[in-house]
Amino acid sequence: MRYALVTGGSRGIGSAICKALADDGFFVIINYNNSREAAETVKKEIEANGGQAELLPFDVADDQATENAITQWQDSHKDDYISVLVNNAGIRMDSVLVFMDKNQWDKVMETNIGGFYNVTRHIVKYMMTKRYGRIINIASLSGLKGLPGQTNYSAAKAALIGATKALAQEVAIRKVTVNAVAPGFIATDMTKDLDEDSLKSMIPTGRFGKPEEVAAVVSFLASEKASYINGEVISVNGGLYT
Ligand code: NAP
Repeated sequence: MRYALVTGGSRGIGSAICKALADDGFFVIINYNNSREAAETVKKEIEANGGQAELLPFDVADDQATENAITQWQDSHKDDYISVLVNNAGIRMDSVLVFMDKNQWDKVMETNIGGFYNVTRHIVKYMMTKRYGRIINIASLSGLKGLPGQTNYSAAKAALIGATKALAQEVAIRKVTVNAVAPGFIATDMTKDLDEDSLKSMIPTGRFGKPEEVAAVVSFLASEKASYINGEVISVNGGLYT
């Protein structure tokens, strides 16, 4: 059995990634924080399609809760390990910096980059021992270009890209790859407050992307075909910025 853990798998891009990896034959571990019902729906959809999935709720921003959940999973799966990790859980709390309060800065950092640290250090240990693994970090156009109103989010996603490149070099010799996917505007709950009609004129493809279009790249990076891609950032943004 090949196990894939997707953080923030209950909604949006994460739920599409869970379904794509289940289609690829992985037993998918669906992490979520608040949206239990949505996570159960993703699990049911995977099972209805002949796939396998289980739920593993924890807050990626909470180091102790993350460690407890992963340790419990590992203790009940002594002979198994998670060979694919998708660090997808993320939030945005936008504000121009001059009006950004400390909570907005800290929450976005703790979830988007703290979550990477809290989850990855436990999982990568097993990947290195087993000498195979795939880590895929969902970054953002914001982390490459920087977007006004998102200094917190841009900083966290840029940090995630730096961490991707550094960790890739640490673990490559053990046949573990670490890559990032940088979506542009994707139609999910996270972007539902944005006006697609006015923003789409900036996007060469003329529309927001779909979660499945991000999931397709993750599916490839999670496969053995992507063995020689390491420390890379792949944009999925309709040509918005490269
Ligand atoms: P979304 O629809 O808001 O979904 C976010 C997911 O993350 C939910 O499943 C949520 O689970 C989970 N999550 C949030 N905080 C969490 C925490 N502390 N612990 C565990 N899970 C947590 O967002 P999305 O658009 O799918 O975004 C997914 C990823 O893509 C994020 O990293 C985001 O920054 C990135 N991204 C999105 C876009 C876009 O245009 N949508 C563009 C670039 C990058 P619960 O509901 O259970 O809390």
